[in-house]
Amino acid sequence: MMTTTEKQNVIEEDIRAIYLGNLNTVEFNLDLPTKGKNGSIITWESSHEGILQPDGTVRRPAYGMGNRKIELTATFTYGEVCKTQVYDITVLEEVKKDTIQKVYPLKVKVNKGKEYMLPAYTVVDTEDGDTIVKEVQWDEKRMHLFENAGTYFFSGKVKDTKEAVTLEVQVLGESKADICNKEKKVISISDTEDAGHLELLEGSPYYEAQQNMHAYLKSQNLDQLLYSFREAAGLPVRQAKPMRGWDSPEGLLRGHTTGHFLTALALAYHSTGEACFKEKSDYLVEELQKCQEAFGRLEGYQKGFLSAYSQEQFDLLEQYVTYPKIWAPYYTMHKILAGLIDSYRFTRNETALKVAEGLGDWITARLKKLHPEQLEKMWSIYIAGEFGGMNESLIWLYEYTGKTGYIETAGLFDNEKLLLPLENHIDALSGIHANQHIPQIIGMLKRFDATKEAPDYERAAFFWDVVTRFHTYSIGGVGEAEMFHARNRIGGLLSGSTAESCASYNMLKLTKMLYEYEPRADYMDYYERTVLNHIVPGLDKKKTGESTYFFPLKAGAKREFLFENSCCHGTGMESHSKYLDSAYFYGDETLYINQFIPSKILWEKGGYEIVQYGESNHPEKIVLEISRLSKESARPIIKRVKLRKPDWCQGEVKLKVNQEIQVAEEQEGYIVADLCFEQGTVGLELEYPCGLHIRTTPDVPELTTLFYGPYVLAAVTDELEYIHVKKGDKPLETLWKRDGEELIFHCQGYSFIPLYQIDEQTYQVYFVMED
Ligand SMILES: [Zn+2]
Repeated sequence: MMTTTEKQNVIEEDIRAIYLGNLNTVEFNLDLPTKGKNGSIITWESSHEGILQPDGTVRRPAYGMGNRKIELTATFTYGEVCKTQVYDITVLEEVKKDTIQKVYPLKVKVNKGKEYMLPAYTVVDTEDGDTIVKEVQWDEKRMHLFENAGTYFFSGKVKDTKEAVTLEVQVLGESKADICNKEKKVISISDTEDAGHLELLEGSPYYEAQQNMHAYLKSQNLDQLLYSFREAAGLPVRQAKPMRGWDSPEGLLRGHTTGHFLTALALAYHSTGEACFKEKSDYLVEELQKCQEAFGRLEGYQKGFLSAYSQEQFDLLEQYVTYPKIWAPYYTMHKILAGLIDSYRFTRNETALKVAEGLGDWITARLKKLHPEQLEKMWSIYIAGEFGGMNESLIWLYEYTGKTGYIETAGLFDNEKLLLPLENHIDALSGIHANQHIPQIIGMLKRFDATKEAPDYERAAFFWDVVTRFHTYSIGGVGEAEMFHARNRIGGLLSGSTAESCASYNMLKLTKMLYEYEPRADYMDYYERTVLNHIVPGLDKKKTGESTYFFPLKAGAKREFLFENSCCHGTGMESHSKYLDSAYFYGDETLYINQFIPSKILWEKGGYEIVQYGESNHPEKIVLEISRLSKESARPIIKRVKLRKPDWCQGEVKLKVNQEIQVAEEQEGYIVADLCFEQGTVGLELEYPCGLHIRTTPDVPELTTLFYGPYVLAAVTDELEYIHVKKGDKPLETLWKRDGEELIFHCQGYSFIPLYQIDEQTYQVYFVMED
């Protein structure tokens, strides 16, 4: 006879083993089991049967009704013992039927002698002013091989309509004629191979978050992270427990967390030099290599395959099977590949590169056999066809191995739905999944490093401008319910599902890469705002290692942590080791100080030590000491320092060099100080006048976010309606009174504190400002 406790344990095990998929954006029927893995009986109840029935059938709300939150309750029964478990589900409203108002005439450039397929998409304006992509039916065949340079015109119709579509194809005379000679103007000091020792100094929110995450990384069981890999490859799992959530043995995205974890370890090692991170990384890489070899011995497997599941999901994707039967196999594989490449990049583990190369070869062999139309169809399948930054990883592989074939494989992931509007400088992001596409742009820019093909750079730069200008919340995050929406739709879309964390992670990565080519201060303004107000506050202060999925921006929001090994948990493990990755750059005898983060860098290659001091409560004051380590060996030489003049700076900047007041010379968003290293160490003191300022939303102008310097200030309140602040003609400083030294500001009965300090409280990032 089983005891009650044993029966309770059976139920607990069954609850843990249940995995229902990504419940934040449900569009398809759910697979709700009626029996648990260990034998408990499960019954289901829905809080709204019209939308979600107890058998899992989903009927999405009609367009205009909005996404609906449903409580799905499972009752697990084993003998006389039972327990309920509640799942919060968001069912997305149906997509709108559009009336087309205008079809854009589009242009593309094509190289002579290279096969070209007419795009499957065009861009239209809808009746209500939205700009979106639509499928096209061409009047003739899609595949063309242009033997001669010149301009060619093609026509067709928007699919299932009579709306005419035109495309101008400009065939360039020489192969790869559209080359741009843009070179990187600066490099991040944290990227140089011998960057030396990087260190965050105590006493900043960045330091706290990094410590918090590193403790989590150290606490994780590596055999658990290998569980599904070993099981799939037919190797013993060594008494490890399985992972949970998206990574559970039933989860179709399993293995992605292990990939992120590899990157997280590599970055943690790079940012601290602590040996334990490298030891853990080495163990994982070595064991993954064993899994890769074991897969190679299985029948029907091509060499190089490595995954936490079989090849089946890849087979099914080629047959266009949709989510939830399969779930983004190339996305998961990208995380594993990126983790291996980062292990090589930051810990110089040669085995990691070898395993990654095997995987790259497997991907190449698999995909190059497929027709371009088949690839296009696969990548266009929502969720199932998502492939992360596969193109980026393949270019890294090319850089590390010199095998140009990987550049061609990266090209197999070109996604015209995204590229075509960008190439034509049209913002057609509405209705496009944010974090599915940002990594594709990163990959394109990475390819530009290798090939210098102009459109790749131009599309990436245009994408960044459009996203940060028209699709970004005040905290720097993008997207609502994971999607981009119509241009400037911000205030009308403040919900519990705003600003997915991993999208910001990727926007920051893109920002840094663009900055290397164009060291523009506004790139780094965005970087600071997003890191400080989305990435730092996104981490659970309770040292659970969990990050927010969405960062809710509706009134009366509260941060939620889901503990399901989501995409955002994955990027969250990496983010907190990256604070210095865009702080210090070097180029043309100039040191760029972009982020104001207390830190110390021993830059051996350059021959300098840089120490930066600052206090969280006084973001306006920055102190730097730059020391030349040895006059003889010092190459390259720093002749000047450019300090970003942040966009929150109000008024005249005070600069002291070696304690002497100097006129702060300003150049395109930077304060420039010429340096002379005769004394060995140069001390810089900077004061940026810092005060309160606001950002409003373009669509609902009264909705406002308050900032103090770089910090978003959130009102601590559990009110579910936006609080109203009466402004009148008073300056902000008289409305909000700072509470002594602390960053607490009082206004009309409400307290506002920096968002990064929010823990359990409910808050409002946006409130109504009235005259
Ligand atoms: Zn995510």
